[in-house]
Amino acid sequence: MREIQIGGLVSFTTIDYPGKLAAVLFLVGCPLRCAYCSNPHLIPLHDGEYDPDKVFDWLKSRVGKLEAVVFSGGEALMQGDAVIEYMRRVRELGFAIGLHTNGFYPETLARAADVVDWIGLDYKTIRDKYGTLVGQNIAHDNMMRSLDVWQSTGKNYEVRITCDPRFVTKMDLMEIAQDLHLHGVKNFAIQKYIPHFEEGTNVTTESQRNQFFDDDNLRNTINALFDSVTWRE
Ligand code: SF4
Repeated sequence: MREIQIGGLVSFTTIDYPGKLAAVLFLVGCPLRCAYCSNPHLIPLHDGEYDPDKVFDWLKSRVGKLEAVVFSGGEALMQGDAVIEYMRRVRELGFAIGLHTNGFYPETLARAADVVDWIGLDYKTIRDKYGTLVGQNIAHDNMMRSLDVWQSTGKNYEVRITCDPRFVTKMDLMEIAQDLHLHGVKNFAIQKYIPHFEEGTNVTTESQRNQFFDDDNLRNTINALFDSVTWRE
């Protein structure tokens, strides 16, 4: 079996898998180049700093203490069947498997569907702006295909967006919320953009970043479209 490449690990979190105490594994490699990426060191495929066998042994020691293991990145599915096989082994220990994904690999997601219990799917911005934000024009279509794939499983998920005001306006957010509502999405999460690597003239202000959260009318309108909306400020 090909080894997976793990570039980071969070040993305990309460916020990365809904309702469960979890560890997070950050896999290296991502096909996108998001302008706001907070983990750019994980984008190129390279040898991971963590030995997957040692991580697995450590996870064994967490049985009974943690409830879930979340695969994040980068984009974990870029490592294809190797990561699916690793997920399967981890799930056999009794953990629920979570996946944070940008949705770029719908076929791989379909192959992973029997071993993944919950996903958080990134919806980056409206279709016309996707290429500018992520560097891949087909990424929006792939993400929507991933949404279809996951919805066909009947398993839980959330769709989330990070509101970088350079790429998302309040009108865009409304359009995205309506799009997701029409697709039958029940759980939507709206995340405040936190700048990590802004420089030069292309910087955002606190009030630009807060505009999505300060508008009661926008909040109420979006809240009415879903069973649950999480505003992560
Ligand atoms: S999908 Fe995530 S890891 Fe990949 S470039 Fe975008 S923000 Fe970074």
